[in-house]
Amino acid sequence: MRKILVVEDEPGMQMGLKDNLEFEGYQVHTADNGEEGLAMIVEQNYDLVVLDVMLPKMSGFELCRTIRKKGLELPVILLTAKNEEIDKVRGLELGADDYITKPFSLREFLARVKAVLRRNPSNTEQTQQITTIGKLDINFQQYQAFYKGLQVKMSHKEFSILEFLWENKNDLVTRNKLLEKIWGYHEFPSTRTVDNFIVKLRQKVENNPNNPKIIITVHGAGYMLVQLS
Ligand code: CA
Repeated sequence: MRKILVVEDEPGMQMGLKDNLEFEGYQVHTADNGEEGLAMIVEQNYDLVVLDVMLPKMSGFELCRTIRKKGLELPVILLTAKNEEIDKVRGLELGADDYITKPFSLREFLARVKAVLRRNPSNTEQTQQITTIGKLDINFQQYQAFYKGLQVKMSHKEFSILEFLWENKNDLVTRNKLLEKIWGYHEFPSTRTVDNFIVKLRQKVENNPNNPKIIITVHGAGYMLVQLS
């Protein structure tokens, strides 16, 4: 669930934004002033901050600038007062992703929120792409493999081979195709090299490496990663 922080000192406005965002399925936290907002942003992992410009203790502009100075890249939507053209320019200069001029319609507000979130895929969504192959839980983006929560050492080549087999699961992958994809044309390993890597992968993936059920040999042709369901 995407998590949004609303920093707004007007109670009615704060509650209205919170209710409507929650109705759209977001998790919403609120802060009444800039300092409180900053403390929450530093502490928690938000997908978006909706920030009123006129705030007690620390203005929305100041807060926005501080967020960027700290190197935080979370998206910010500024709520500016009516027709303050100069504020819009300043807001964008300070690193806001979008601004909305009060008064605004809820429909417009929710559309802007959606658009900003679409442009900024969540951190958790990016890193939690775990693929389970046999005994291993694998994050191919980060070259990490785990067995029962403990990290398993694997070389880049092993990851690449496993990923290629996974992308072509339940299909025959010939040794030559693997050589071409993983080693390229500038290296000249023998097909025996491929077989050696498969042996290593089976030791990590299979329950019984001597009787492989996941990375199977297609005799005289190559290999196939079998994944049922
Ligand atoms: Ca205000």
